[in-house]
Amino acid sequence: MPFKFNLVTCGCGHSFGTSGSRVNYCTKCGSTSNIKDITGFDNAEKLSEAVSIANIPKEISDELIEKIQKKENKSKLFSPNKSPDPFSLMKIATDVDGNLSKLSLEKILINEGISDVSSEHLIGQAEMQGLLVRVSQNTWNWLS
Ligand SMILES: [Zn+2]
Repeated sequence: MPFKFNLVTCGCGHSFGTSGSRVNYCTKCGSTSNIKDITGFDNAEKLSEAVSIANIPKEISDELIEKIQKKENKSKLFSPNKSPDPFSLMKIATDVDGNLSKLSLEKILINEGISDVSSEHLIGQAEMQGLLVRVSQNTWNWLS
C-alpha cells in the first residue's frame, strides 16, 4: 500500500479512515472480508475531508456539491479581476460639471451588478486618499 492515509469503504455502506498501511476490519460492522474500496491520500486533512464526505447520505451530498458549485460560480462572477475598477465607475458617475453624487454612483453600481460594495464605501475610500472632496451633503468633487 503506497499511501499512509486511506479511505476505506465497507460493503455495509460505512466509510472510515485509517492511517496505517494495513486495513484490518470495518469500524462499524467489524467485517474483515466486506471491504469494497480503498482510496489513498497523502495527508490526514485530505483523508478526514474524504471520510466526512463519504459518510454524508447521497441525496444530501449531491445537494451540497450543487450548492458549493453554485457558490463557486457566483464568486467567480464577482472576482476582483473581472469586476470593473471602482474609480472608473466613479468617474462615469461624475456629471459634466465634475460633481459626483452618491445617487448617481449607486445607479452605476446597480447597472454593473455590483452589490458587495456600497457607494458610501467607495466615496469614503476616495476621500481618504484625497481624491474627492465633499462639496455638499450628497455631492463630491474630484481633486485630481
Ligand atoms: Zn462494514
